[in-house]
Amino acid sequence: MSWLQDPVTIQCLYIVAFALFIYGLMGLTGPRTAVRGNLLAAVGMGIAILATALTPGMGNWWLILLGVALGTAIGVPAARKVKMTAMPQMVALFNGVGGGAVALVAWVEFRQSHGFADEPAHVSIATLFAALIGSISFWGSNVAFGKLQEILPGKPISVGRLQQPLNLLLLVIGVACGVVVVAGGTSEWLMAGILVSSALLGLMVVLPIGGADMPVVISLLNALTGLSAAATGIALDNTALIVAGMIVGASGTILTNLMAKAMNRSIPAIVAGGFGGTGGPGPAGPTDKTVRQTSASDAAIQMSYARQVVVVPGYGMAVAQAQHAVREMAKELESKGVAVYYAIHPVAGRMPGHMNVLLAEADVPYDHLKEMEEINGEFARTDVALVIGANDVTNPAAHTDPSSPIYGMPILNVNESKSVIVLKRGMSPGFAGVDNDLYYDSRTSMLFGDAKKSVAAVVEELRAL
Ligand code: NDP
Repeated sequence: MSWLQDPVTIQCLYIVAFALFIYGLMGLTGPRTAVRGNLLAAVGMGIAILATALTPGMGNWWLILLGVALGTAIGVPAARKVKMTAMPQMVALFNGVGGGAVALVAWVEFRQSHGFADEPAHVSIATLFAALIGSISFWGSNVAFGKLQEILPGKPISVGRLQQPLNLLLLVIGVACGVVVVAGGTSEWLMAGILVSSALLGLMVVLPIGGADMPVVISLLNALTGLSAAATGIALDNTALIVAGMIVGASGTILTNLMAKAMNRSIPAIVAGGFGGTGGPGPAGPTDKTVRQTSASDAAIQMSYARQVVVVPGYGMAVAQAQHAVREMAKELESKGVAVYYAIHPVAGRMPGHMNVLLAEADVPYDHLKEMEEINGEFARTDVALVIGANDVTNPAAHTDPSSPIYGMPILNVNESKSVIVLKRGMSPGFAGVDNDLYYDSRTSMLFGDAKKSVAAVVEELRAL
């Protein structure tokens, strides 16, 4: 078995693992290849764990196996059972665990090396960086989880004008403790100072951020966890951690930028906090404006006479799990000669690609899914825009009302369609917590009810026509 523990074998295994990470990540760029990409990256991670476990002097095999068994026993059922709508909070939780693990490893390294007494500066700096960022990420991710799970209020919680100075003070304390350690300080209180100040910083940075920005924050924390894991890799001289950490750090940063751009929010503005609520069923809309209601039968007749129908899915379609019924409806319409397309807004739902995943699950042909830039020019030629549980991503206030929190966010221009049918349960606002003038437009009619039941009723009516 000694050849298995040969450094060359171990490095070769790592190279195979990295190739699989990168190849897997490439697969995630499209719905057709995403599942295979995910599987490849998971196999890569399995190989990287094996290579690390084979490294001579790795320590107690039974403890490692116990850790792997515990992680598998918790992770696999959790990932299988989680609802698609709860995916962001699950990512937050898993990301937090990663950050926490990195911070704990840094603490152990500090103790084992007696405060980095005989370690070169690059090892102590990398480890302290990992402790600081890992701890911020752990506590920040837990707050993000709490907000998305509605254990904590989604509304921003802050200490007002003192917030930013307080955050800066906590950062200064953490960095100062780190500087003293690098300069030769070996007291464990210094490490405790780093871990506690960065824990408070993680809490203080995420608590003032509203629920609507939470997925962007999770992506940002994810990038930070990746960077802290890469720093741990430098400290432990483990190439796998450096590569995997940098991949997570880079892809998390790109994703954060893309999401912030799609919501027209700058990352500093998001971190400064204060936007959005929880997105749960909210208060009824204003009573001085009236909406026009329609029925499943009228909606079916209107759509069956259309030349082109554009389905605009949103978070409500995910909640109702209406995607299969939507696919059935599209088949009925297509059999009547109606062209059906799906307008995909980059931040519809609660995570990037949310709508693509659901519609792919319902076997909607990929070429019928149209990205926002592609479909926006089509709405003027569209007879019926069928909005299914989407709200913020269709709100014209993003174009017209500079005082609106979503002002400037690119939206799907459904209001340019000849007519609009909106499927939702009531007049509750969307995630940003703002009213939508689209519903009061003379060309809009509302079909109230759970999206799955409403679409199923439309399918029945279409079949009866
Ligand atoms: P919204 O959250 O704006 O609106 C969803 C609507 O669905 C609600 O108004 C709700 O109204 C309705 N709804 C809920 N349950 C049902 C149901 N069972 N049947 C029918 N309707 C239902 O969703 P959008 O997809 O339009 O917008 C996404 C929001 O999330 C944006 O603000 C975006 O910025 C934000 N966001 C998204 C991220 C992403 O990555 N996708 C990341 C960060 C933020 P009612 O209760 O009356 O039925």
